[in-house]
Amino acid sequence: MEKNYRAELTGVFGDPVDGNPTGVMEEAGYEALGLNFRYITMKVTKDDFPDAMRAVRALHMKGVNLTMPHKIDVLPYLDDISQAARIIGAVNTVTVRDDGTMFGENTDGKGFVQALKNNGESPEGRNIVILGAGGAARAISVECALAGAKKLTIINRTLERAKELAGLIASRTPAEAEYAAWTENMPVPEDTGILINATCIGLAPDSDNRPDIDYSTIRPGMVVTDVVFNPADTLFLKAASGRGAKTISGLGMLACQGALNFTLWTGKEAPLDVLENKLREEFGQL
Ligand code: NDP
Repeated sequence: MEKNYRAELTGVFGDPVDGNPTGVMEEAGYEALGLNFRYITMKVTKDDFPDAMRAVRALHMKGVNLTMPHKIDVLPYLDDISQAARIIGAVNTVTVRDDGTMFGENTDGKGFVQALKNNGESPEGRNIVILGAGGAARAISVECALAGAKKLTIINRTLERAKELAGLIASRTPAEAEYAAWTENMPVPEDTGILINATCIGLAPDSDNRPDIDYSTIRPGMVVTDVVFNPADTLFLKAASGRGAKTISGLGMLACQGALNFTLWTGKEAPLDVLENKLREEFGQL
């Protein structure tokens, strides 16, 4: 039989994109499973995005991740989109199916819910407090609401964004939604089941920083999670752990998201431990 030397191509389009760690994680997974797949990190400006999407077809790519500023601009190119991505209004993963049609998914929030499950937790029936109302907060809150969360409380520095996100949850999902402005030394509501930092506060090189909340109101029984993945053990999580809460890192969420992309493109279950260890190695945290 003739040998096949052609690699299957995947990658990410973004600008800026140089610091995006997804490629090393996905390629470690491809290598571990002996797959002839590649993941290329590509700078694509907003103006060049239509050409880049034509290239996805011309190069017979299996799919691409999208990051800033393309997550919304990609929508007109898609033939099909997941329920969550439609509600979120943004896609971070495109899969080119065998028949050439393009499917859009948002794996940010799904990765978060999967990381909860891998740690024996679930959004179902829980009151969830989210700090932040940006892209990550939006994806996470929609997925948690679709996964059966009882109530989402969105707390954000810019009140208008919190209001908009709470309105989206209340109108498009079965969950209840509230919003509030972020006040100084803000107490965590007593009935909180899961508290999430969905801001970039604490992300390296800002790792000496943590969200301004009253940490004495965090109690054992609460689950506290961070979207920040570098460092994995943020000051926010350290403080929450010190108060007896169960903590789950953003690195786990990123690895779970990578695993979902991996399966969408290859049709195979991802080696999650390989993906997670590669990220730890990359961030000098092994
Ligand atoms: P956005 O820019 O869309 O949103 C940033 C959010 O953080 C906004 O709510 C913003 O508030 C808030 N914020 C920023 N600085 C401060 C501050 N000093 N005080 C209070 N609030 C602040 O970013 P994303 O949502 O896309 O990303 C957020 C983080 O999530 C990043 O660190 C990103 O790396 C991480 N991430 C992690 C993933 C993972 O898999 N672990 C996946 C995706 C993202 P305001 O509206 O007032 O500006």
